[in-house]
Amino acid sequence: MNNKNTSSGKMLPVMEQFASLQGEGINTGKAAWFVRLGGCDVGCSFCDVKESWNPNLHQLTPCDEIINNAVNSKLGAVVLTGGEPLQSNLDYLCNKLHEKNIKIFLETSGSEPFSGCFDWICLSPKKNTKIFNCWFEEANELKVIIESKNDMVFAEEMAKHVNENCIIQLQPEWSKKDEITPFLVDYIISNPCWRLSVQTHKYIKIP
Ligand code: SF4
Repeated sequence: MNNKNTSSGKMLPVMEQFASLQGEGINTGKAAWFVRLGGCDVGCSFCDVKESWNPNLHQLTPCDEIINNAVNSKLGAVVLTGGEPLQSNLDYLCNKLHEKNIKIFLETSGSEPFSGCFDWICLSPKKNTKIFNCWFEEANELKVIIESKNDMVFAEEMAKHVNENCIIQLQPEWSKKDEITPFLVDYIISNPCWRLSVQTHKYIKIP
């Protein structure tokens, strides 16, 4: 593959693309064209897309093809997810999607430097990696995955760092949801600056 194209973001390691509804966070229920990019070195034990981690396993795809798919979906919105999408340079893709008046929703761990331009940024930081400050400044929503009560220390620390307009949410880790959700409900009633995010797409069995 042409390194010039990959470094300029004109080719991206696409794992899958599909139409679906946003399943979690503030924009739950909205339809979008999903673009899942390969590449992530954060290594979360609970990751449900471990097959995305190695970018070399995923087809380098011309951005223009991704953009055509998004336009043809007629959904007017793209969710960039992964993997960690910021392991790729997103400048070219985002600029071209905006030229087509498509809104861009980003899901990121914040573990990579900024590229691209977005209409909505969901920051889901992880304990086991560094987080670049730019994401705290730019995030529209913070979504912290909670596996155990002890994770609230990390969640509260993250909430201190985000900008004042950022909506802050706690999301039960899927495999622990039965034990941790009642705790989170009580926690949010006592600390109503937080909201609960649940993985609705898993309940209704859509991708
Ligand atoms: Fe998986 Fe996301 Fe963690 Fe990367 S940051 S390992 S994609 S859950």
